[in-house]
Amino acid sequence: MTGPILPGATLGVLGGGQLGRMFAAAARRLGYRVAVWSDAPDAPALAAADLATNAPYDDAAAFEAFTGAIDVCTVEFENLPADLLRAIEGRVPLRPSSQAIAATQHRGREKRALAELGAPLAPWRPLAAAGTPHAAAAALEAATAATGRPAVLKTAGFGYDGKGQVTIPATGRWPGAALALLAAEPCVLEAFVDLELELSVVVARAPGGETRAFPVAENHHARHVLDLTVMPGRVAVDVAERAEALARRVVTGLGVVGLACVELFLTRAGDLWVNEVAPRPHNSGHVTIEACRVDQFEQQVRAVCGLPLGDPAAVRPGAMANLLGDLWDGGEPDWAAALAVGGARLHLYGKAQARPGRKMGHLSAVADDADAAAALVLRARAALARGGEGPAGAAGATPNPDPRA
Ligand code: AMP
Repeated sequence: MTGPILPGATLGVLGGGQLGRMFAAAARRLGYRVAVWSDAPDAPALAAADLATNAPYDDAAAFEAFTGAIDVCTVEFENLPADLLRAIEGRVPLRPSSQAIAATQHRGREKRALAELGAPLAPWRPLAAAGTPHAAAAALEAATAATGRPAVLKTAGFGYDGKGQVTIPATGRWPGAALALLAAEPCVLEAFVDLELELSVVVARAPGGETRAFPVAENHHARHVLDLTVMPGRVAVDVAERAEALARRVVTGLGVVGLACVELFLTRAGDLWVNEVAPRPHNSGHVTIEACRVDQFEQQVRAVCGLPLGDPAAVRPGAMANLLGDLWDGGEPDWAAALAVGGARLHLYGKAQARPGRKMGHLSAVADDADAAAALVLRARAALARGGEGPAGAAGATPNPDPRA
């Protein structure tokens, strides 16, 4: 194996979102140059790069310039054209590899790969695009015989944050949205999980195969989008150990080099099931910036460059609350009021336009225990809404661990 890629080298990042922006900040702190390629104008990572490429992903001139400038490439977003990933790999090391990324781009492929690794999954069925609502109803009838009802229908490709998902109720007619979705697109149908809690584990894997796992995170969602993370998660020691072991097994089995996050369902029966894998830093890992000895972005730099991995242990319990575009409904949020909450740290991603549901930033804090850290970030977020009361589902909302409620 070749030696590590040392500070002074140029690291390429595909994708221009906040994960790339925070990766770029970590890499530049370590003395690297960063080249970001995003097809979206105003992508937050472009402004944080030494070299910004804003062009479609099939632009040949952009490909030449980008690959000519970089020593290694990583991603901050998995839904990238497979052709591009393979072509990059022909020029420089791509970490994770195109193959590892491809396994996570499509829910059906991902579940098959996870099943082959022996990872436990909620009962599921792959479904081809049915063509018509009538054929979709027949396909759902057959698939729910395997998964039971309630169930969740998800598009097979390019879904995230609950987009392209329809819940199939326990009884009654098929929802029109489910029939329309399945008529048009390949999907997977999953049993609705009787959730105790959602967990995630961010794992770094070095080119030589060594893995380091961050403490297990406990995640609460609101309207299918991550709302609040607490790290280390408030779970029994044996649950945390099983989650970590499972995440390491998955990341190793998928052959990821770099960083990946394994999202897990903890069922009320005490089982851990893999929900999905992201071959990049994860929203739930943002809290590592304040809570851990090394954060997920620096760890990604280290793993991608073949440097010694950092110690991901928690220094103090931490919590992170997302700031969605909904917070702008009543005008510019009251940043000063949130920052007046002692210990609260504000991260904004520099996105020009606030849209409902869009991740604009986050607040994080550490404290003596996880409950106190969670209370602190929620208090800081509630203070953002002028007058102190947030819009439902955003600033002032209580996180809802049960998506059925
Ligand atoms: P996903 O994009 O698949 O991670 O789904 C987003 C969120 O929807 C998850 O984090 C869960 O809160 C919820 N969800 C997804 N699938 C299921 C399921 N099979 N059972 C229960 N909740 C689910």
